[in-house]
Amino acid sequence: MTRPAVLIAGASIAGPALAYWLNRYGWDTTVVERAPEFRAGGQNIDVRGAARQVLRRAGLEDAVREATTGEVGTRFLGRDGRVVAEFPAQRSDTAGATAEVEVLRGDLARILVDATAGCTEYRYGDEIAALDDTGSDVVVTFASGSQERFDLVVAADGLRSSTRRLAVAGPVTIRPLGMEITYLTIPRGDGDNDWWNWYTAPGGRGVTLRPDRHGTTRAFLSSIIYDHRAGTWHERRSAADHQARLREQFQDAGWQARRILDALDDADDMYFESIAQVRAPRWASGRTALLGDAAWCATPVSGMGTSLAIVGAYVLAGELAAHADLREAFAGYERVMRPYVDQAQHLPPGVPRIANPRTRAGLAVFHTALRLAATPVAGRLGGRLFTPPADHIDLPDYAHLERTTH
Ligand SMILES: Cc1cc2nc3c(=O)[nH]c(=O)nc-3n(C[C@H](O)[C@H](O)[C@H](O)COP(=O)(O)OP(=O)(O)OC[C@H]3O[C@@H](n4cnc5c(N)ncnc54)[C@H](O)[C@@H]3O)c2cc1C
Repeated sequence: MTRPAVLIAGASIAGPALAYWLNRYGWDTTVVERAPEFRAGGQNIDVRGAARQVLRRAGLEDAVREATTGEVGTRFLGRDGRVVAEFPAQRSDTAGATAEVEVLRGDLARILVDATAGCTEYRYGDEIAALDDTGSDVVVTFASGSQERFDLVVAADGLRSSTRRLAVAGPVTIRPLGMEITYLTIPRGDGDNDWWNWYTAPGGRGVTLRPDRHGTTRAFLSSIIYDHRAGTWHERRSAADHQARLREQFQDAGWQARRILDALDDADDMYFESIAQVRAPRWASGRTALLGDAAWCATPVSGMGTSLAIVGAYVLAGELAAHADLREAFAGYERVMRPYVDQAQHLPPGVPRIANPRTRAGLAVFHTALRLAATPVAGRLGGRLFTPPADHIDLPDYAHLERTTH
């Protein structure tokens, strides 16, 4: 019997995770990635609850644990660097701003790509230009000009997916949350420690430093956008313009903001995003499907983007293995994932503005709330304050469907 062949767009988390599971069910897997080579960038992402179960089932949990950043918890700081409140990492699958399994996005992507070595074909520096779903297969035209047929095409190419509109017809809403985040890696300083150090300045500005396991420090600068056109700039602003804007915005922010600004010129991995949620009424049609941020981006403030991608890949692959009929497989994918995604997208009221006050008075109130949340009495509540709904899914077991390890 011929093996079904899938083409997946995007080689970050969702794409390689899907390839991994489909390999175990005996599919042929190809991943096309627009970047010219593997993308190692990105900062700490959390693997929580059900996603950890999936990694356990994949036999990858130990590899991911070995790659954790060693972050011991989250500390909120005042302008002078003094600690306002601290939340040690929780020793559970789900709790806290710092999850027990904190790993750099690039390290996790590398583990997933390595786990598919020898089975999955990765094509870098190309992308899908056109799709023709004939009913019995999909004819794919690549930007490089070649044409090929696949049984299934999955768009796992992130929040700004360009494959999405080719893959699944229907309205997709991109809802900006009015916040920009710039991530970069800077040289580790003598005073840097193993906490996620988080300083908030008036004007809705955030400055944070986090440890990594590569001898450097991961920094981010975040800002609330008070302009109603928020969410469209990323298409208009060059990296140089963005840096100039950061210098203007953060020059007087305080704490270590200037140190980060000084490192901007030498940062070769600067990654910036205007955060937004993706709402798609359906994630599949015909012989095409959406997965990960391309389907349901919940944003970094949800703390769930990577967990959703890992769980979604496991469920989509399992449903495809369980049902010969694609419509049934996609119905199962929706049935299991939709409520889980809805929970993750449901952010507490006022997020992200509430944690990024505009005025000094607002900041004083925020700090008081943090101090209260960090007290032993409120300890459990404090944990919940930062804890996304990572466990609220009944993870199906597809182990009986495994056919081959290639
Ligand atoms: C370089 C990078 C750094 C990141 N850093 C952070 C971070 O620090 N903190 C955080 O919370 N989240 C970060 N993210 C986002 C995070 O990885 C996702 O929110 C989450 O893990 C879900 O992953 P995903 O695989 O669905 O999407 P993404 O991780 O966004 O991956 C999408 C992939 O598709 C590729 N791609 C884009 N367009 C095309 C196309 N047309 N054809 C083929 N491939 C395409 C992209 O290059 C990327 O590799 C980062 C993503 C990337 C790509």
